[in-house]
Order: sequence, then structure tokens, then C-alpha cells
Amino acid sequence: MYDVIIIGGGVSGAASARELSRYKVKACVIEKEEDVCCGTSKANSAIAHAGYDAEPGSLMAKLNVRGNEMMEQLSKDLDFPFKRNGSLVVCLNEKDMPSLQELYKKGLANGVKGLRILTKEEVKEMEPNIVDNMYAALYAPSAGIVCPFNLNIALAENANANGIEFKFNTEVLDIKKIDEGFELYTNNGVIKTKYVVNAAGVYADKFHNMVSENKIHITARKGEYCLLDKSAGEHVSSTIFTLPNEFGKGVLVAPTVHGNLLVGPTADDIENKEGTNTTREGLDKVISQSALNVNNIPMRQVITSFAGLRAHEDGHEFIIGEVSDAKGFIDCAGIESPGLTSCPAIGEMVANILKEKLGLEENPDFVGTRKGILNPNTLSKEERIALIKEKPEYGNIICRCEMITEGEIIDAIRRPIGAKSLDGVKRRTRAGMGRCQAGFCSPRTMEILSRELGVSMFEITKSGGNSKIVVGTNKDTL
Ligand SMILES: Cc1cc2nc3c(=O)[nH]c(=O)nc-3n(C[C@H](O)[C@H](O)[C@H](O)COP(=O)(O)OP(=O)(O)OC[C@H]3O[C@@H](n4cnc5c(N)ncnc54)[C@H](O)[C@@H]3O)c2cc1C
Repeated sequence: MYDVIIIGGGVSGAASARELSRYKVKACVIEKEEDVCCGTSKANSAIAHAGYDAEPGSLMAKLNVRGNEMMEQLSKDLDFPFKRNGSLVVCLNEKDMPSLQELYKKGLANGVKGLRILTKEEVKEMEPNIVDNMYAALYAPSAGIVCPFNLNIALAENANANGIEFKFNTEVLDIKKIDEGFELYTNNGVIKTKYVVNAAGVYADKFHNMVSENKIHITARKGEYCLLDKSAGEHVSSTIFTLPNEFGKGVLVAPTVHGNLLVGPTADDIENKEGTNTTREGLDKVISQSALNVNNIPMRQVITSFAGLRAHEDGHEFIIGEVSDAKGFIDCAGIESPGLTSCPAIGEMVANILKEKLGLEENPDFVGTRKGILNPNTLSKEERIALIKEKPEYGNIICRCEMITEGEIIDAIRRPIGAKSLDGVKRRTRAGMGRCQAGFCSPRTMEILSRELGVSMFEITKSGGNSKIVVGTNKDTL
């Protein structure tokens, strides 16, 4: 019998697990995919929002501002990339100024620090590529950009190092209330637990509704993006937003923390909760709407497109807490944007609830820091030579676009909660994230995965499940 089962290994589940590992507890994260960071947490704008957008007094506003404040120290403790690059909400006409002022006032009410409304001249000085026909902008210096993959992976690794179990390829199919807690019916058998944390992203309504009469409803709201090559990465330095509308924050243009340029997302409600395909109409919208705020975006530099699904609950608010008619069932539902920003604070809130309910004692062995994968590019020439002498695999470049070595890929596979697929390696090391989008390095990364995991090339997948890559030998297929 577990004390706590967390359903979902996205940022909400991983942050909850990491904060919970501060206490003596028998807990496990259950994830239906082969890895953490396979849901919405892998496909978003990667912005640490300042917090002027959410309604004052809402949980969303509170956790956004707190999460943003926590992110910098967390990035140091857990060694993942984060940068405060600031954000600008662009107002194109004088007639829209009341909306910009409204946003400014909301920001002040939410406790966002350093907010200022800038004149056109001030904005142009800061961002020369902003359109000339703009009027003013709301500047938020506390906004940042983060690597969502490494944030999620770092939280999970640190939770695991502090004693939280992870079970992958384990899909929760049904939940039954029992006297001591809950029985979770999965494709890998029945798991008993005193408490459940429901951090299942777009599926969180399904699990909530299994145990409660007070139903909730989550819509998958799709956002499509174009990612541009690093040669376009300096087109803007801060994150450029349009004025928000009923569907959210609109199409943005932002540098990524790794030096690319990100343009998107759209916002379209869809039925299919697995519908992460991009569409012609969606990408056309991204291109036309981004041009309203930023001049000459070099769209010929697009290296890939992708889509993510917001878990939009009808009430547009984070739902975090014990379900009133299902004691022991803790919701972490409706975690749409700014969920990534808020995740450190979401984890803190979930862990505090469980600490109280279970009467948990502190874990005396808790270590709050974690070291990421060694990137030889951060070393001096002398240090790098010494490293390659000791470990020649750091002298073998596998991904030429991102300059990722065999040593980094081996580290990604061997560490606890290691990579098991091409995408797992990609999210941990960036091998395959560059201009050629894994065209060159895939076979070489597959060979390393095959050797390190002790499985045949036929078993290596792109992203677990049936996503096998090698289907036969040349002779078989001739
Ligand atoms: C287009 C877009 C842009 C966004 N931009 C930003 C941004 O810039 N800044 C920001 O702060 N936020 C942003 N967000 C929001 C942010 O990405 C999410 O709030 C956050 O990633 C949600 O994390 P999560 O862990 O709750 O959900 P997820 O990451 O979706 O994790 C849920 C997990 O549960 C697992 N699961 C589901 N069902 C089962 C089951 N039956 N059994 C076992 N496991 C299961 C899934 O596989 C998944 O891994 C954006 C979202 C989108 C879609």
C-alpha cells in the first residue's frame, strides 16, 4: 500500500513528487508513456509568465507569481536553463490603451514587480524589429524563458533521488474507493494507495469524475507553433505578446533559452485529446498573426512545427485540493497556461496538503540539488581536452547541428529515469533538435541506445509504444 500515487509525470506531477520527497513517504508517480514530459509539458511556449494576465485573487494568479519567483533558484538548484529576458505586450492603437492599462492594473494587484508601460520610442529602442505602427507596450522584466524538458526531467530526477518511485508504460484505467484509500486499476495490475494526486493533464477530468459527483469538464485547446533556426534567434530579445483575447495570450514571438526563435501558438478547441498534429490553417494563422507585431520574421528559417494541448477547464481556474466528496483524492486539474511557470508553486501546494493530511515527518536525507548532463561546451579548452583524454566518448560528436557528444548521450541513458528512446535522448541532450531535425544523428543515437540498453535495433523506438523505427533488413524488404 502506497501513501501517495501521483497520476501523471508532467511538470505538475513531477513538481508535486519533488516537493513531497522532502518528507518521509512511500510514493510513486504513474505515467502511461515511456518517460516523463510526454504530455503538454513538452509542447508549450516555455515562458515563465510574469503574472499580470490571471484574474486578481485567483489561484492561477497566486501560483503564477509565486512560481515565477521560485523558478530562478530552482534552476540553480536543479541545473536547468532559465533566463529572465522580460516580456512586452504590444498595443497597436490608442483605442486599445484601456485594455493595456487594465492588464497593468491586474499585474499590480497580483504583485508583479517592475511593470511599466513603455512609449513607442522606448519599445523600439529595446526591440528594433517591433512593427512601426505600434502605440505602446506593457513591459514585465520578471518574465523569463525556460527549457520545459529539462525543468520536467530535473524535477523527476530529483524526486527519484530522494526516494519517489516512477512507473512508466503504466496507464490508469479505473479508480475504486476502498476503506483505506483507493485501488488503481492499470494495464500493469492493481495498485493500492491511501491518497491519489490527479495530475493527468487533459485527462484529469476523467479521473476526477470517476470519484466525484461534482463533475468537471476539460477541453483540449490546441496551440500550434513554428520553431525557427538559431540563425533567427536574435530577431527579438524579449518575449513579444499581443493583447490577450478570450482564447488567451495570442500569438507570441520569443527567443528560446537555447537560442532559437519560437512563433505561436494558435488556440483552437478540439475533441481529440491526442490531437497534437499541426495543420495548414493553424500554421498560416501563426505566420499572419505574428507579423502584426514583429517585422520581417524570417519564416524561411522554420526547422519544425509542433502543437500542444491546453487542459482548459470550463471555469478557467486551476483546481488544486482534496475533492469535497472523495476524501483522499487530491485534484491538480485544469492546469493550463501558466502551468509551466506555476509548477514549482503547484508542487509546494500539493505537498503541503499531503503533509497535513498524512502527518508527514521531514525526510532527513532530502538533497535539494541535482546536477544536469555535463555539456562540454561549457568547459574551457584545457578542461575539455582533459575530459576527452579520460573519457574519449566526449570527443565523438553525434549530433552535428547541436554539437552533442556520445558522452552526453550515454549520460542521458545511464542516469536514473534515463532516456529509453530517440525522443528521450533528444529532450535530455538536444541531439536531434537542430537544423536537420535528427536526419543525420538518428541512426547513430539508435546504435548507442541499442548498445547501452542491451536491446536490438528493432526494439528502439522514437517515443516508446509502437513507434518502432527499424522494420526489417534491406534483404527482407527487397
Ligand atoms: C500551446 C500551449 C502553450 C503554453 N505555454 C505556456 C507557457 O509559455 N508558460 C506556462 O507557464 N505554461 C504554458 N502552457 C501550459 C503548460 O504547458 C501546462 O500547464 C503544463 O505543462 C501542464 O502540466 P501537467 O503536468 O499538468 O500536464 P501534462 O504535462 O499533460 O502531464 C500529464 C501527464 O499525465 C499522463 N497521463 C494522462 N492520463 C494518464 C493515465 N490514464 N495513466 C497514467 N498517466 C496518464 C500523461 O501521459 C502526461 O504525461 C502552455 C500550454 C500549451 C498547450
